[in-house]
Amino acid sequence: FIDQLASLRDLPAETLDGVRVQLLTNTGLLADVTPGRKNGAEGVGLYRSEIPFMLHESFPTEDEQYEVYRQVLDAYAPLPVSMRTLDIGGDKQLPYFEIREENPFLGWRGIRFTLDNTSLLVTQLRAMLRANAEIGNLRLLIPMVSRVDELQTFMHIVEDTLEELASEDCPVARPPIGMMVEVPSALLLLPRMLPLVDFVSIGSNDLTQYLLAVDRNNPKVAALFDNLNPAMLVALEQIVSHCEASGTPLSLCGEMAADPAAVLLLVGLGLRTLSLSAHSIPKIKWLIRSIESSSARNLLQRALQFNNEAEIRELLGAELRRLG
Ligand code: PEP
Ligand code: MG
Repeated sequence: FIDQLASLRDLPAETLDGVRVQLLTNTGLLADVTPGRKNGAEGVGLYRSEIPFMLHESFPTEDEQYEVYRQVLDAYAPLPVSMRTLDIGGDKQLPYFEIREENPFLGWRGIRFTLDNTSLLVTQLRAMLRANAEIGNLRLLIPMVSRVDELQTFMHIVEDTLEELASEDCPVARPPIGMMVEVPSALLLLPRMLPLVDFVSIGSNDLTQYLLAVDRNNPKVAALFDNLNPAMLVALEQIVSHCEASGTPLSLCGEMAADPAAVLLLVGLGLRTLSLSAHSIPKIKWLIRSIESSSARNLLQRALQFNNEAEIRELLGAELRRLG
């Protein structure tokens, strides 16, 4: 069976009725490059840039960052690599920069932190843009967006950084810039945000946490943390419909993309790009190649009738058992 999965490497993730799904990988480590390529990742949908920061003893310099980013971009070129700007705070702490807060998940996280520390952000942007200069497959991804003005400010900073680099005789192209949708306010304001971005990626881990008010890491409420909560399905439907209306490319990069039951519904919802850890790619590719997109849509319609995730999981479990 393992051999069978390995032989999938060069086959497309395509449903029986010909719907193509792009499978990208989530990473943050250079060590992931080999498994990523070996499992047939079609690029990187989420490069968690906080991971190299966590492995350092102090903030890495622009040149240190440049070196790491260049290697990642190069390893996947010409396939796309979405590098997310620093997303610390919440559960992600740097050993050399302690943030103490009562409610870290509602605090100084992601884009909020970097917009308050613009020199860190500019250093990181310069390193990413320079690393991309001769490669050209970089896409920038903004974490934890919850307000329209965060996007506006971020775009200004990117423009200024591009000008600064050009004035230093280091002209670089403006890469596509996308936002994570992982906070309910971003979902509600999506029609106002979409004109400002080139693509959207759903962070289903945080979106579930914030939508349901359930800490993603608290064992006491672990049973309530389910990506297939009916509220999540309604939220995902809305995101898909806003992105389709504006023609904005959409992907999903949370753990949900590696959950076979969830993937049945994601295909039914119309998601055509998923990003997941490399070792889960063969399994999810096998699943996509075993289903019809029309039956995924039917399953979604049935799942949307249920009021709790247990019934939804039962329905999907039966379908997975039928598929083998
Ligand atoms: C998410 O929130 O779903 C996500 C992909 O980002 P992270 O897990 O790094 O917060
Ligand atoms: Mg997140």
